[in-house]
Amino acid sequence: MKVNRNFDNLVPNYLFAEIAKRVNEYCSANPDKKVIKLGIGDVTLPLPKIAVEALKKGANDLGNKETFKGYPDYEGYEFVRKAVSDYYNTFGVKVDPSEILITDGAKSDSGNIGDIFDKDNTVLVTDPVYPVYVDSNIMAGRKIIYADSNESNGFCAMPNEDVKADIIYLCSPNNPTGSAYSYDQLKTWVDYANKNDAIIIFDAAYEAFITDDSPRSIFAVEGARTCAIELCSLSKTAGFTGTRCGYTIIPKELERDGKNIYKLWYRREATKFNGVSWPVQCAAAAVLSEEGQKEFKENISYYQENAKIIASAMDELGIYYTGGKNSPYIWLKCPNGMGSWEFFDYLLENANVVGTPGEGFGKNGEGYFRLTSFGDRENTIEAVRRIKELLSK
Ligand code: PLP
Repeated sequence: MKVNRNFDNLVPNYLFAEIAKRVNEYCSANPDKKVIKLGIGDVTLPLPKIAVEALKKGANDLGNKETFKGYPDYEGYEFVRKAVSDYYNTFGVKVDPSEILITDGAKSDSGNIGDIFDKDNTVLVTDPVYPVYVDSNIMAGRKIIYADSNESNGFCAMPNEDVKADIIYLCSPNNPTGSAYSYDQLKTWVDYANKNDAIIIFDAAYEAFITDDSPRSIFAVEGARTCAIELCSLSKTAGFTGTRCGYTIIPKELERDGKNIYKLWYRREATKFNGVSWPVQCAAAAVLSEEGQKEFKENISYYQENAKIIASAMDELGIYYTGGKNSPYIWLKCPNGMGSWEFFDYLLENANVVGTPGEGFGKNGEGYFRLTSFGDRENTIEAVRRIKELLSK
């Protein structure tokens, strides 16, 4: 037998293991120091109460013969798809419940969506990049090309008309750079995709963090319905990172190569995925209700305030950064020309603050560093105080 040798082409990702190793070594050698972690990409606030109540009720339903549920519909229950559709309406985007499929999250979806496309497609990702887009396509044996995000474009990579791509991954607001595309920038991508017969896979995992008029969905952009698939989840929106619920949106008219894309994805899901559990789907619908939105927006506001505190410090220090406004991430330029691992060590040793070195996200991340606002307020304030004290010396 043979294994999938495309795995040989994966670049080992030591980023988080290496961070943990360096932090553990430092803490063992300096047990009296209080190290603050601003590197985490996971939420820390608990689930909205309305979600917890729905989970409990859903669990009770499973324990009674009258209300028991077995396998859910492949595309998710209608009332949950309707709740997603209603939520999109609140920010002016029309998607029909029949175009929505409920899934277990945007990570699996961004990896699995490749099943419906041929191996011989060229995949374009922006660099720095959420590594799942790259690794899942390397596993499938696809060719990957990169569009540079850097200071000259405000870490919003734009298409090169001379380069042909078939599958384009865009993430806005972006992980790791925190930058969000404007309407006009997304329109340029949409026009490029339509012209090239390409498909944009749009990851909107951080849409709930947008505070300005940047589009919260690719479907806010004219022309997107003929070239885009949207992936999103409740992980960052409503604290579902451990609960697991997401959704894909595929316009019914989207076709390529003579095939309907929604039908291909439905077939893929029906074959390899048996759906999201009843209590979790109940919780998803609950947080997307009017009352639920109020609750999760309070949590988002808390993280946004943390982000503001970090961003203000960068402003005061005169450090270049993106994000912080439409995103829980602050992507900063390492001061004094330091490399990203050099700055990691400098910050750990001198301020006892942990962040994420940018080079872990691609070549354009070298010399940059990611801080996150998912920590608690007190720690964020203290970390920022230490950073300011260290870097204003
Ligand atoms: N997409 C991006 C850009 C992310 O940063 C993350 C998580 O950090 C995910 C997707 C994963 O989301 P989920 O929890 O829905 O799988």
